[in-house]
Amino acid sequence: MESILVLTHADETGSALTKASLEAVTAGQELAGRLSAPLAIGIVSSGPINLSKGLPSARLLAVSGEAFAQPRYATDAAACEALCRAAAATIVLAPASSRFARVAAGVAHRLNGFIDTHITAIGGTDTVEVTRWFYRQRVEAVLTRDARPWFLLLDAGTHAAYAGVPAAAPVEEIKVELPAQRTTVTGIRAPRQDEQTIRPDAKLLFVAGAGWTKKQPDGQIHVSEAAGLILGFLRAANASLGSSKSLVDQGGEGNSVLPFLTHLNQIGQTGATPRHPKGLATCCHGEEPHVVGWRFIAERRAISLDPNCGWTRGKADVVYVADAFPVVAKVNELLAKGN
Ligand SMILES: Cc1cc2nc3c(=O)[nH]c(=O)nc-3n(C[C@H](O)[C@H](O)[C@H](O)COP(=O)(O)OP(=O)(O)OC[C@H]3O[C@@H](n4cnc5c(N)ncnc54)[C@H](O)[C@@H]3O)c2cc1C
Repeated sequence: MESILVLTHADETGSALTKASLEAVTAGQELAGRLSAPLAIGIVSSGPINLSKGLPSARLLAVSGEAFAQPRYATDAAACEALCRAAAATIVLAPASSRFARVAAGVAHRLNGFIDTHITAIGGTDTVEVTRWFYRQRVEAVLTRDARPWFLLLDAGTHAAYAGVPAAAPVEEIKVELPAQRTTVTGIRAPRQDEQTIRPDAKLLFVAGAGWTKKQPDGQIHVSEAAGLILGFLRAANASLGSSKSLVDQGGEGNSVLPFLTHLNQIGQTGATPRHPKGLATCCHGEEPHVVGWRFIAERRAISLDPNCGWTRGKADVVYVADAFPVVAKVNELLAKGN
């Protein structure tokens, strides 16, 4: 019989579980329920975790201490290994957070197990069948394995975050033999939240295309105006910023470019495939290699000058054939009034 362990970790406050951890908990609860298998939840944190958002009925195991306050390979791998050994699970689910993505394969190896990553769904009736995408989301595969323990790293946003009655089970503290620590975390340097343009949890994806930096009907380019409009929209709508390849490539070609865009913003065949509920493309032609990255965006709108662009050919629900400069300026004005 299978037994399931869900590995979770604290968020940056140190006192609550991350959303991605709670999504893994949902996946674990569903799987354990379907297989009638025992469920354990392992928690890595520096101190006590507020479980007011609830955890399902499960064996609760925790590794805690100051050494686990910061992500670090040696300590996180030791913590996960100890939790896996204590739970003796055959299937281990973990969120694909940067913290766990870094250690999960190493932990699987220490336990003589196997790992599959980027899992988006877990199905099957008597068996366990997991789904993942390959080749830039073009091929969807369903995998099974006989080898155990089987580690599954779950992509964020593929399950609802668990919310239920607060956990009643006592938390078992698991002892960890810590290896010598060569890495000291002295702090984190990160852009301020409102300076970050990639926001996976945003409800809206705003895509900027190369048109923003092209000659406009007056024969001039208006890059700084474009930058102001795009950043203004992102702030007012709390949207995430995506881009076409043509626009992010311009930086490398020595042209005027929007300084806050990098290849990390690129959406498409050779870029990202984000999972926001809504998307708005602006000054973008909507070519297939770009739109393939919109696979998981449910509601799609576009603003383009070209009535024959890809968006009008069935790739968006609504296309505004208009100049994005005045349209986005007006929208920003309305958003500012609304806020
Ligand atoms: C192997 C391969 C992989 C690729 N991978 C990717 C990928 O991952 N992601 C990606 O994005 N592309 C990818 N591409 C490139 C892709 O085919 C397109 O070239 C790219 O998406 C075009 O970007 P764009 O629409 O921003 O630019 P353009 O094609 O230059 O379109 C600009 C659009 O802006 C409009 N416009 C201009 N001014 C305004 C205005 N004021 N208001 C409204 N609209 C305006 C124009 O009418 C035009 O439609 C790939 C190509 C290949 C061959």
